[in-house]
Amino acid sequence: MTSEAIQKLFSNLALRFAQEKDYLAELDAVLGDGDHGGSMAKGFQKAYEAIGADRTADIGYLFQTAGRAFMTAIGGASGPLFAMLLLELGKASLGQTALTLSMFQEGVAGAAAAVQRLGKAQAGDKTMLDVLLPVSEALSEVGSLTEALELAAQVAQDSASKTADMMAKKGRAQYVQGAGLGHLDPGATSLALFFQTLYQSTKGSA
Ligand code: ADP
Ligand code: MG
Repeated sequence: MTSEAIQKLFSNLALRFAQEKDYLAELDAVLGDGDHGGSMAKGFQKAYEAIGADRTADIGYLFQTAGRAFMTAIGGASGPLFAMLLLELGKASLGQTALTLSMFQEGVAGAAAAVQRLGKAQAGDKTMLDVLLPVSEALSEVGSLTEALELAAQVAQDSASKTADMMAKKGRAQYVQGAGLGHLDPGATSLALFFQTLYQSTKGSA
């Protein structure tokens, strides 16, 4: 993945999250305050605008610029936490012109650690960590970036589905009746969409 592919990725992310805005808002209306769809759509739109015209070849710089724009654009619990994924991918690839498997592994592992440190959630608490942790773990077993991107999309999707069976111990969802049991976690669902879009926009050219 070169800078051109990263530009394309953020264009696709802005589009995808605009399309899924109402769906994510509905998920968050059940478990929280309903702002998650709007936040994600705005965050990725601003991230895309921040890098859309940038002609740098430094992919880490692009991820970091996108991450900072995302973080500035949205508040809430998930804004700064979600931005960690972009910032950590940027940290792992700063000064590089193409994403490699080890950069991707390092970025996702760094994001899982940062989200855990900042949000203080554990595995099984029904948060975005229930996608980040299994994806990070699965990535340690693969041999190529192409394989890693496909596996990340699959594992993220499966892991997000499993959040319906969990009771929330963090965020607003812990206060709703049944702690959200039977419902998907919006943040985990967004992460699955992120990894899906990443895989789709690199298919055949990673
Ligand atoms: P807010 O809860 O401030 O309205 P959002 O609705 O945008 O923020 O995001 C809610 C999502 O944030 C949840 O679905 C969950 O995945 C994630 N989340 C909330 N608290 C935490 C936390 N402490 N650690 C990790 N993720 C969290
Ligand atoms: Mg919310």
